[in-house]
Amino acid sequence: MKKTFDLICSVRELTGIFNTKTNVRGLLEIVVKIIAKHMQTAACSIFLLDNTTNELVLSATAGLNPDFIGKIRLSPGEGITGRAMKERRPVNIPRGSEDPSYKYIPGMDEEQYNSILAVPILYQSEILGVLILEDPSPDYYNNHDVKSLQTITSQLATFLENARSLIQLDKKGGKISKKRSNLKKSFYKGTSVSEGLAIGNALYLSDANNDIFLKIENVKYNETPEAFEQALLASIDQLEILQQRMDESLSEAGSLIFASHLLMMSDDDFSGSIRKYIQDGEKPSLSIVKVVNEYIELFMKSNNIHVQEKILDLKDIGHRLLRNLTGKMNLDGDYTGQIIIARDLLPSELVKLAAQHTEGFILFGAGVTSHISILARSLDVPVIFISDQEFFRSEYDGLLIVDAFQSNVIINPDSELVDKYLANLKNLKARNNLQGSIIEAAVTRDGKKIKVQANINILSDARSAKELKAEGVGLYRSEFLFLIRNDFPSEEEQFIIYRKLLEQMDDVVFRTLDIGGDKILGVAENQETNPFMGLRGLRYSLRNPDIFKIQLRALLRAGAGYSLKILFPLITGVEDFREASDIVGAVLEELKAEGMYCAENPAIGAMIELPSAVMMVDELAEEADFLSIGTNDLVQYMLGIDRDNDDIADLYIANHPAVLRALKKISIAADKYDCPLSVCGNASADPDMLEFFIGLGISTFSINHSMIQFVRRQICEIDYSKAKFFSGKSLRTRTVKDVHNIIAEKQSKIRN
Ligand code: PEP
Ligand code: MG
Repeated sequence: MKKTFDLICSVRELTGIFNTKTNVRGLLEIVVKIIAKHMQTAACSIFLLDNTTNELVLSATAGLNPDFIGKIRLSPGEGITGRAMKERRPVNIPRGSEDPSYKYIPGMDEEQYNSILAVPILYQSEILGVLILEDPSPDYYNNHDVKSLQTITSQLATFLENARSLIQLDKKGGKISKKRSNLKKSFYKGTSVSEGLAIGNALYLSDANNDIFLKIENVKYNETPEAFEQALLASIDQLEILQQRMDESLSEAGSLIFASHLLMMSDDDFSGSIRKYIQDGEKPSLSIVKVVNEYIELFMKSNNIHVQEKILDLKDIGHRLLRNLTGKMNLDGDYTGQIIIARDLLPSELVKLAAQHTEGFILFGAGVTSHISILARSLDVPVIFISDQEFFRSEYDGLLIVDAFQSNVIINPDSELVDKYLANLKNLKARNNLQGSIIEAAVTRDGKKIKVQANINILSDARSAKELKAEGVGLYRSEFLFLIRNDFPSEEEQFIIYRKLLEQMDDVVFRTLDIGGDKILGVAENQETNPFMGLRGLRYSLRNPDIFKIQLRALLRAGAGYSLKILFPLITGVEDFREASDIVGAVLEELKAEGMYCAENPAIGAMIELPSAVMMVDELAEEADFLSIGTNDLVQYMLGIDRDNDDIADLYIANHPAVLRALKKISIAADKYDCPLSVCGNASADPDMLEFFIGLGISTFSINHSMIQFVRRQICEIDYSKAKFFSGKSLRTRTVKDVHNIIAEKQSKIRN
């Protein structure tokens, strides 16, 4: 009889896979054995999709004839394995040979098994392959096993994607070309999106010349074969520790966020190629650079759609090996003392680099409200955006100061300036360690109580939100869970995160997946010509009901015993609100029919971010349980100004009379239908906008945790009666200048 404890692999166990000296295929063999052990089953096999022929290829097995590895190929729909792929869902067959889709393959030793469970392996909604369990006992797998296996495949998706890419690479190598120019200025003004101060050496990850290759750094390497072997072992150890730390600090990472790093380092083909160069007389440092760059070239030539992330991972690996080859690497991370300069980064890449102690980042273009910026603030790393192309064409690798308080980048500072900034940095750290007095509740001068909640992007934000006494979470941006992994987590994984958040914080508003726009998951979505007008927000969920339903199942299950609040992003009007609410109802029924313990009566809210939603706000206030104003998007769509375009940032004006009137309309509708209303966009961090909102009668705000104290302090300075007057006057304006005059007048009265 099968026991049902601990069916899900722990990250610790999964990282352990990479401790063995073998190649990709060897690692796959270990993986199938671990899964078979966990699932207490006789056989486990992995079929990976060969996307040149669209066939599933047996790539690893424990329990079937291993001679068939690489030889058995199945088309979509062929056999039970092919069926799981074609139908993109688990197929659980209690008596395999009696099933019409069963395919007998002589010599494969499959006839000894009765129960067959096949689960498709999905990575960013793309099929990677199929994982198969088999056992002699009939009717062996239950629903719990199906869920566990789905979770395991989700945890392993990044690893399997990397393994598949490596297997498919045509390792013939290629020539590398390099060309760079120099930096001309000694000072650059940018836009700071995540405050902080960093001092370190410039490290370019990519530039305008597309020079994406690894290069030797200006340091002394230990150029012996033994030093290379030590660097390799040290790198594997460090990555395992990093992965485990990530798992503790960032539960969302869940899966192996450093999977591709660990895989490459443990792959004998990769390290073997470096050894071969060394044996042929090349220096170890140059051998590492050559092999890493050969792999980069191969990925560039392959039809792999995740090329950008793969190249970054490879450079990351090369960088770590080189750093370890200096013999001076500390255990903490290999970007200590370095400032990363890149044209753009995926959220998952930012997470990996920040975890490796990068001091700061300089990125190209983009805006304050972009999701890479929001994530950077959650991760607490200084980031400045610069839109000067020349900066990204440089080969400068000397010292930089990133002053993300003043939005300044200083090139090659003299020692006096460095000392001054180092002293500032020290003060800053000391100040951060001091527990300042926390304003626990915000009340206006004339006694109106205002609720200040936290916007949470990753689970670790909850800790700071709690310390700062946030009165709940007004916006949990659930997409970050997907973005930092660059993948779709399983129902079980999502359930664990949502439940943890509910356990940690009172009163949480869960926004369903708000993907699209600048929150790009897969490369495919990137191809939209106008992503902010494309398949984003709730539209994405309605177009991808499988993904939406999995999230709703996880939310409704996690909300059992709590008063669950679900918020839909980018609502257009009544239709999409009803359609999404109906899906919640249907999923709830489905869960109840399955006998699942779940949230009884979830409150359903609509985000007001589109002009169409403003026009329909009466009906939405009547039908929804609550409304939340997303000013970041509302301003963008009302004024037709890209929220992330720095060149037109001066036209992104939250207190434009048109926006103010829209806000008034929303507050009237909420009052009329007694519908709770809050503001969750960044606009409430602007003291004048905050006063305007309060003057409208809005009394709940949700803001990034770093702004909670600031917003509370501002509220304590506001007089509600005066705020009402200020709002009324602002609403009677015709131009932005009129609004600014009213603000100036207000401020001069305060001063006098
Ligand atoms: C908003 O648009 O104001 C908002 C809170 O949502 P996001 O910034 O995640 O788009
Ligand atoms: Mg929004």
